[in-house]
Amino acid sequence: MPTVHAYATPAADALLAPLDIERREVGENDIQIEILYCGVCHSDIHQARNEWGNSMYPMVPGHEIVGRVTAVGSAVTSFKIGELAGVGCIVDSCRTCSQCEAGEEQFCENGMTGTYNSKDKEGHLTYGGYSTHVVVDEKYTLHVSEKLDIKGVAPLLCAGITTYSPLRHWKVSKGQKVAIVGLGGLGHMGVKLAAAMGAEVTVISTSDNKAADAKRLGATHFINSKDLAQMATITNTFHFILNTVSAPHSYDSLLPLLRTDGAMVLVGAPPMPSQVTGFNLIMQRKTLAGSLIGGIRETQEMLDFCAEHSITSDVEMIHINQINEAYERILKSDVKYRFVIDIASLKA
Ligand code: NAP
Ligand code: ZN
Ligand code: ZN
Repeated sequence: MPTVHAYATPAADALLAPLDIERREVGENDIQIEILYCGVCHSDIHQARNEWGNSMYPMVPGHEIVGRVTAVGSAVTSFKIGELAGVGCIVDSCRTCSQCEAGEEQFCENGMTGTYNSKDKEGHLTYGGYSTHVVVDEKYTLHVSEKLDIKGVAPLLCAGITTYSPLRHWKVSKGQKVAIVGLGGLGHMGVKLAAAMGAEVTVISTSDNKAADAKRLGATHFINSKDLAQMATITNTFHFILNTVSAPHSYDSLLPLLRTDGAMVLVGAPPMPSQVTGFNLIMQRKTLAGSLIGGIRETQEMLDFCAEHSITSDVEMIHINQINEAYERILKSDVKYRFVIDIASLKA
């Protein structure tokens, strides 16, 4: 396939700027997608700036991709030209290990191939969705309903599955009390999904100006985590806490909010280590756990759940040349609630 336009960063301390990249030819199992929209995840910032220490450059971020199929390989059976398609964080895995066989490709024992900042089986660096086209194996491509506004569907491919998967794994259900910590891209999806599963949702946030939104998104209660008196009113309350915070913060201040046998699951991935006081877990048999995105089968299940319940992300659309400014606003918690790039702005 010819060269396509993209936006990339050449180094951890550089801004994103235009770059033309090569996409592979459409192989027999491949789908070529003309990208329409791509969400901006906080993980894009962590990786563009090498905060996790594993970055490869040039980096074209973006793993919340929605577009239309423009070509299919000869062996492709599940997609046709013109259909909508989605791509999340995973574009390949070994397909034979026990995790791949269980549909948990994110835990592939031989290492899954990420949509960007990863090496494919031929050793080529993968490039993400801040670009006009992508070529992906059919098995790692998702079906997207025509029913929903696809601008708001793009963020489901990471923020949606990353919050849906732990809610399902820990069996969050009707009547349970759930707290979502951090009302950003992941957090606002966590609120919508947990509410749709029947949970009573509390948002725990550092931003008082998000209180009205928290209720509109489906939460019943809003607590400012900086107000210790408010925090004291919710000790021993939650069956489940989903922690989406992107920066270092105190887990010890949140664990007392769990009831006996409750679990706090980390999806937020601050680069720095955190301290945890063992007694905060020991005394009431509490669990502190983590969760990584979700497998392809579950991602499709989440997209279908969202189509059925009319759930999309609340988005602020941006032009590709606003991406550096968008990163700065995300770092100030100033996004309601996901930036989505209109990829038409990259084609011009
Ligand atoms: P985001 O939109 O920036 O949301 C993060 C939210 O955390 C902010 O809106 C803010 O909410 C809160 N926050 C920020 N700094 C804080 C601080 N110092 N103390 C307390 N709260 C703070 O980011 P996102 O895209 O949702 O991603 C969140 C995290 O999840 C990132 O670390 C990202 O890399 C990670 N992630 C993990 C996975 C996975 O598979 N586990 C997948 C995707 C993303 P309030 O204003 O409400 O306080
Ligand atoms: Zn992400
Ligand atoms: Zn595998």
